[in-house]
Amino acid sequence: MNFQRKMYLTVAMFFIATLFMAGCTAAPTPQPKPTLDKANIDFSDTLISLTFDDGDADNYLVRSALKDNGLRATFYVVSGLTGSDGYMTVDQLHDLYQDGNEIGGHTLTHSSLSDVRGDALKKEVCQDRLNLLNMGFDVTSFAYPFGYYDDEAIKTVKLCGYNNARIVTDGPQEMPVADPYKLEAMPYIVQDTSFNKMASYVKEISADGGGWMIFVFHHVCNGCDEYAVDYDTFVQFAEWIGYRQQNAGLKVETISEVIGGEVQPGVSP
Ligand SMILES: [Zn+2]
Repeated sequence: MNFQRKMYLTVAMFFIATLFMAGCTAAPTPQPKPTLDKANIDFSDTLISLTFDDGDADNYLVRSALKDNGLRATFYVVSGLTGSDGYMTVDQLHDLYQDGNEIGGHTLTHSSLSDVRGDALKKEVCQDRLNLLNMGFDVTSFAYPFGYYDDEAIKTVKLCGYNNARIVTDGPQEMPVADPYKLEAMPYIVQDTSFNKMASYVKEISADGGGWMIFVFHHVCNGCDEYAVDYDTFVQFAEWIGYRQQNAGLKVETISEVIGGEVQPGVSP
């Protein structure tokens, strides 16, 4: 080996050693990154709202799944049942509210609004909203029990000071919203709605130009009710949409964040 060649080798080895040492001490260990969908879907025209009806006690279970994934949901509460057996307490509602979740109204006793009329109808909607305002919540959103509504019900919901109301069918809701008192929702999440089914709803709508997908949940438990989402399924879905909110333009907002408007004063029935 001649001298020149020896020099080249020494220099090269020095560089290799330097690089190796730098690699050992300074370079961060690459973290495995969860992959986005193979189809590389653009979620930026899709808006999701997670809504929970009735104020069931098991709804409190999703608190950390929401918080851990940067999500906020809307909880529609039946104030006449709050704190009774099987329903969330006022303190639990405040915990959710303090995390940024929304508390909405769902009538005083979960009456079907196409069956009650006049003063009884007004009491169901206005007294419920007053109760929730008195508990300390800025209540602007309403959901019709069982999704039943008619012209008189809509009139009463407006009169009681609500800015919007959700039905239970016909979603995704087109944007901009034509009628905020008939917000259209995705098909009910029921016991056998899988994570894959929910994720594919979101992927299909997103690939098809987007829209506002309002999901309706009731119980959160493993098989306790026909209208229940498995806890693990919900957590998996929360992680999935939370990740896409962080990385792929998906937006997840409460109903009031989307509709906006002032908090109107309560109305005595
Ligand atoms: Zn309900």
